[in-house]
Amino acid sequence: MTIATVNPATGETLRTFTPLPEAAIEDKLAAAEKAYRALRRSPIKQRTAALLKAAELLDAEKEALGKLMTLEMGKPIRAAIAEAEKCAWVCRYYGENAERFLAPEAVQTSAKESYVLFQPIGPVLAVMPWNFPFWQVFRFAAPALAAGNVGLLKHASNVPQCALAIEDILLRAGFQEGAFQTLLVGPELVPRILADDRVAAATLTGSEGAGRAVGAEAGKQIKRTVLELGGSDPFIVMPSADLDAAVTTAVKARTINNGQSCIAAKRFIVHESIAPEFERRFAEVMSRLKVGDPMDPATEIGPLATERVRADIEAQVEASLRAGARALTGGKRLDRPGYFYEPTALADLPHDAPAAAEETFGPVAALLRVKTLDEAIDLANATRFGLGASAWTQDPDERERLATEVDAGAVFINAMVASDPRLPFGGVKQSGYGRELGVYGMREFQNIKTVWVQ
Ligand code: NAP
Repeated sequence: MTIATVNPATGETLRTFTPLPEAAIEDKLAAAEKAYRALRRSPIKQRTAALLKAAELLDAEKEALGKLMTLEMGKPIRAAIAEAEKCAWVCRYYGENAERFLAPEAVQTSAKESYVLFQPIGPVLAVMPWNFPFWQVFRFAAPALAAGNVGLLKHASNVPQCALAIEDILLRAGFQEGAFQTLLVGPELVPRILADDRVAAATLTGSEGAGRAVGAEAGKQIKRTVLELGGSDPFIVMPSADLDAAVTTAVKARTINNGQSCIAAKRFIVHESIAPEFERRFAEVMSRLKVGDPMDPATEIGPLATERVRADIEAQVEASLRAGARALTGGKRLDRPGYFYEPTALADLPHDAPAAAEETFGPVAALLRVKTLDEAIDLANATRFGLGASAWTQDPDERERLATEVDAGAVFINAMVASDPRLPFGGVKQSGYGRELGVYGMREFQNIKTVWVQ
């Protein structure tokens, strides 16, 4: 894949980048190792101060950074600016709390003194996707840098300018040369980088295929990994739900980021007693969404990020329609330049139709009906994914069962699934393993060291 900025709203190639030559990769690895030697001994306050400065820069420059995201991957500009603000939040959160998370923990034993130290492990390779081109990177970088690790970013090939801008922000914030570097390389160089002794671990957010490749390579090298992969999140609506709130949130949860979010709600599992009303209202709101130029602040749905993403969703919808699904609204690409696709609601789908059984990365909702809560939970779990789940009910018993019985890394009741710097984030099953964010996320790339003093 060429490393290039292609405007998804027009299809125009704006800038291409020459991939890093082998010798330059060697220089970057050497710089990472050097920075790690210094960073691991640096006072925690120095690292948290740099994160607080990064938060300031992100806030101050959010408009320009938002434009860059929108230009490279097509998310609506208001959401792009909000993404820069969220990155400021995660930097501020670790800037303010990392010292507490890193404090040694005393443990009572027969020793004179015994305790647990939380130390960094080294340079971490971060393989990241284009869909939240800033957020995915900062949610890894903020805790990792706070802990004294260094970052090597292999970003998706269609967001090179975002990747370079992130490195620039962290440098200007006060992190030293080599503490966080962008490597403009294709996926074929990932095994070579991961195999290098100076690289301690890897984190990957992306597709199952990429996760498998990086997980296998890291396994061979006995290096730790965090994998944040795909999702087919259920959105369950039971009869006691507040239907107005459920419909409004359902549309938002499906179409966030033009539908290209791992934790977007994808399968709407609705109790049959309210399904006709839910489906009618859901389709109506979807059909009224303003699709258009993502740089226009009034736009709600922009283009998909690449022609490939659009072709994939188009194929899933067409196969689902052939399998018997009915489009309540949408169902085709838009006849205009750029990679636009209509917000689409599909009803009457067989459960094995692609739009219900596979991850759909675009504004396409699968509407499914169930007769009971048991059936809803079984259907929610009938997927190889297990990232997030949203469930709508006012009934405390139902709430309890949904929270405990849905197989997912997160269950949100009467709210849409979202990541939050304070809470762990990650999946089960083929959605990956390990956690990001919160204190649990920070521990993934730490040496949890036992110290015994007699
Ligand atoms: P992708 O094709 O897997 O790409 C993600 C990253 O992996 C890119 O940097 C890509 O590089 C790289 N990559 C691809 N194949 C690789 C390989 N064989 N070895 C090493 N690196 C490889 O995914 P995407 O299409 O950008 O993103 C969409 C997917 O990410 C969806 O499945 C979505 O659910 C998932 N996602 C998950 C989360 C989460 O937190 N769980 C969040 C967001 C997205 P190139 O761009 O150079 O190919």
